[in-house]
Amino acid sequence: MSPELSIVIPVYNEEDVLPLLVARLRPVADGLGTTYEVLTVDDGSDDLSPAVLQRLMRDWPQLRIVRLRANAGHQAAISAGLASARGDYVVTLDADLQDPPEVIPEMLAQARAQRADVVYGVRSDRSSDSAFKRLSAKGFYRVIRLLSGTHAQVDAGDYRLMSRATVDAINSLPEHHRVLRFVVPALGFPSTSVTYRRDERAAGSSKYPLSKMIRLSLDSVTGFSTAPLRAATWLGLLGGVAALLLLAYALVASALGHTLPGWTSTVVAVAGVGAVQLLCVGILGEYVGRMYAHLQARPTYFVAYDSLTGPVTAVDEPEPSTSPRA
Ligand code: UDP
Ligand code: MG
Repeated sequence: MSPELSIVIPVYNEEDVLPLLVARLRPVADGLGTTYEVLTVDDGSDDLSPAVLQRLMRDWPQLRIVRLRANAGHQAAISAGLASARGDYVVTLDADLQDPPEVIPEMLAQARAQRADVVYGVRSDRSSDSAFKRLSAKGFYRVIRLLSGTHAQVDAGDYRLMSRATVDAINSLPEHHRVLRFVVPALGFPSTSVTYRRDERAAGSSKYPLSKMIRLSLDSVTGFSTAPLRAATWLGLLGGVAALLLLAYALVASALGHTLPGWTSTVVAVAGVGAVQLLCVGILGEYVGRMYAHLQARPTYFVAYDSLTGPVTAVDEPEPSTSPRA
C-alpha cells in the first residue's frame, strides 16, 4: 500500500538536527489527515546520524531510511529518494529545518486545488543566510536563467512538492549529475508556488563548502546550456580579428619604416591568443568530461539499505536513473 505523500529528506552528518526535525515534522505530517512516509536518505553519514535515525524510526513507523553506501552529494541523495519514494506526491526538503515543514500542508492543498504537478517553495526572505551565500546565490540564479533560458524561479531551492507524474519523469531522465532545481522547471509541467521564510539552520554546520557550490554551478550551467561553448567560439573569433588587426598594424608599421624591436606586441599577441585558447580548451574539456562520464553511465549513488526492504546487495542494485518505484 503506497502512501499519498512521501517526504524525502537528504541527510548528511545531521545527528544534532534530526531529533529537532522529527519534533517539528511529525505533528505537521500527522495533521495532514492522509497517509504518508518520511523517506530519509542517509547520504553516507559518518557521524551518529544512522544510529539516531534507527532510534527515531522505532517510535515513528512512517519514518523510512534509505542509506547510500557512500556520500554522493545533496542532489544525488535527493535523486535516490525520488527513485524509491512511493507517494502520489513527493515533497523534498532539507534536514536542517531551513525549510519550515509547516508549509507542507499548504503545498499539498495548492497541488490538489490547482491540479498542479509542481509546487515550488520560494524563499521570501534570505536574511538568515550569510551575505556571501545570498550574493552568490543571487548571481547563480541570474546566470543560470540567462544561460539556460529555463523558467527556473529565482530563489526556489530544493523545497518543492511534485506529483507522481513529475517524479516518474525525473526518474526516467538518463542524465547524471542532474541539478533538480533546474531540471524540474525545464519539464514545463503545470506549476504553482508558495512563499516561505527561510530560517537559520537549526543545529550543526553547513554541508555545502565552496567546492561543492562550484561543482553545483558547473553542473547547472553545463547541464542546461551550451552557451559557454558558444562563448568559446565567439572569443576565438574575436581573438582572430584582433590578431588580423595586429598583423595589419605590424605590416603598415614596417612599411613606414617604424619598425621597433617589437617585443611588446609579440608578448601581447602570444599572451592574448594563448589565454583565449586555454579558455576555450577548458570549456571544451568541461563538456567532453561530462560526455565521458555519461558514456561510462556510472550511477551517482548506490543504495546500501532500505528500511522497507532490508539490505540492498550490489547485485540487485536497481539502476538509479531508470528504477521504477520500489
Ligand atoms: N546534504 C547531503 N549530502 C551532502 C551535503 C548535504 O545529503 O553531501 C544534505 C544536508 O544534510 C541537508 C541538505 O543536503 O539536509 C542541504 O545541505 P546544507 O544545509 O548543509 O546546505 P546549505 O543550506 O548550507 O546550502
Ligand atoms: Mg541548509
